[in-house]
Amino acid sequence: MPKKGSGYMSLTVAEDVYHHYKKDFDTRKDELARKGITSFAGYITSMLEELMDRNEIFARYAPFLQEFGYDEGNNTVYIKDNRTNRVAGVTVQGKGLTCDVDESDDCIHIGFAYALPRVYRVMEKLGVSPPKVKA
Ligand SMILES: [Zn+2]
Repeated sequence: MPKKGSGYMSLTVAEDVYHHYKKDFDTRKDELARKGITSFAGYITSMLEELMDRNEIFARYAPFLQEFGYDEGNNTVYIKDNRTNRVAGVTVQGKGLTCDVDESDDCIHIGFAYALPRVYRVMEKLGVSPPKVKA
């Protein structure tokens, strides 16, 4: 138990949830260490921080952006921009995410794509780092 006022809090999770993530952590230990994540608690914290970022981005863009389609073969998600009535294709590649409308790697479509579970799962699978865009 962390001491009161230490800046840390503890929480209890179901055993199967714990084991799921612990296994994940153990499997990816080397890769995570390169990102500066050396403990299981640090791993969970980094995932929660990423989740907070994604939720903030999603809340900010969801009123005018929506997922329109997904091309699994090309790892491309199509995002409809209701302000411009255009559809942007955001592709996950080795280097990161690219948007075919803005030809950029830090536009709102990319921020929004990063907030979509199927996109960040592919990013995780391909070992792609989170984009520069922040909420
Ligand atoms: Zn874009």
